[in-house]
Amino acid sequence: SDHNNFLVVLGGGESGVGTAILGKKEGYHVFVSDKGKIADHYKQILEEYQIEWEEENHSVERILKANLVMKSPGIPEDAPLVNLLRGKGIKIISEIEFAAKFTTANIIGITGSNGKTTTTKFTHFILKNGGLNVGMAGNVGQSFARQVAETKVDHYVLELSSFQLDGIEEFRPNISVLTNITPDHLDRYRNNFQEYIASKFRITMNQTEEDFFIYDADDEVIAKWLSENPIRARKLPFSLQKEVENGAYIKDEQIIITIDNNHLTMPTSNLTLEGKHNAKNAMAAATVAQLLRIRKETIRASLSNFQGVEHRLEKVLKINNVQYINDSKATNVNATYYALESMESETIWIVGGVDKGNEYAELLPLVNEKVKAIICLGVDNRPIINAFGNCVDVMVETRSMEEAVNEAYRLAEKGDTVLLSPACASFDLFKNYEDRGRQFKDAVRNL
Ligand code: ADP
Repeated sequence: SDHNNFLVVLGGGESGVGTAILGKKEGYHVFVSDKGKIADHYKQILEEYQIEWEEENHSVERILKANLVMKSPGIPEDAPLVNLLRGKGIKIISEIEFAAKFTTANIIGITGSNGKTTTTKFTHFILKNGGLNVGMAGNVGQSFARQVAETKVDHYVLELSSFQLDGIEEFRPNISVLTNITPDHLDRYRNNFQEYIASKFRITMNQTEEDFFIYDADDEVIAKWLSENPIRARKLPFSLQKEVENGAYIKDEQIIITIDNNHLTMPTSNLTLEGKHNAKNAMAAATVAQLLRIRKETIRASLSNFQGVEHRLEKVLKINNVQYINDSKATNVNATYYALESMESETIWIVGGVDKGNEYAELLPLVNEKVKAIICLGVDNRPIINAFGNCVDVMVETRSMEEAVNEAYRLAEKGDTVLLSPACASFDLFKNYEDRGRQFKDAVRNL
């Protein structure tokens, strides 16, 4: 058949199904194709909406008739089918590019190597407390596309991965936030750090002078890029180290946020979330809120009430005056750096998993200062042992979460902290980082 509005959706997961629903609603002829299996509940939804789909196969001939292709972020840029489509000049976009065309809501886009989810939820929390009609999409819950199809809000807070940003053309957030840039996912960028940086900065590429860009001014990678690549959006930096004229900083234990002579101050001691990284996330979220004219009282109250996100420095239990903390989401060295940095007592550190070529050197001073015992939890623990063998007196290897937690319990003394912050992916022993974090919490609760 011959369609001039034939939308092919590659990938039948959350963003694929969302795009399919929105596309159908907007009058496209839609076909969903997934090389793997599509989950039963998604198949059901596709059936309900009378959207055609296939699984464990790509009908290439049919797909090549597409006028537009939405590629799910999990499908690599260099997959053979993607190359084929590009070769034919067929437009390939991401879910956010597609969905943004069909909403007039104010868009707040949040990206970065670490802190995306925390900052997204934090921002959403404050805006909601401020009475705004605001939606949230990204890593959690329903996809942006599905929400655009099914609900109407005035503002969206979107968590954006670099893969989502790679597939944008016109997507233009009114407010963009860049939390930081550290090497992660380099495997997907041919180990080219410059490409990965450029990918993150795509969030600003369609912004104009009317838009805002909130970013970590202490991040050297970001600073260097900005000095070489001017952007149009108005810049609002946040910093732990220096005063900024407009933006956010900390001085004498006070957070100060200024936008055009409008100041908000608040003692850092009122922040619920611990750690310098969370002070940064809080500053970023509060700057967004102040831009949207949320009342200062509401912003302050929100900053001192936000409970954080599961698996991110999550306090689990105190047993015999030992605090157990679940930071399973720390799948890279930088995230673990901030976790260790925020430790205020002697730490028993559970670490390991699938190492993505980690450079552990930057952790050495912190480990020397704070860690009294290391519990390796991975199939191959050699990188950890090589890096930290000389830093601690006690180093044990374990093969299950239960074993690791029992070892930690045995080693811990009053006042210590037991920290799960693996700095590695979880796939050797666990389904994913959530599974790893939940097993940790179960094991702790069973002590
Ligand atoms: P993302 O969504 O970008 O993966 P999360 O908010 O899920 O980020 O946090 C991932 C990990 O990084 C957690 O271990 C968390 O404690 C840590 N983290 C959170 N915010 C920051 C930050 N601003 N800088 C560095 N690490 C952070």
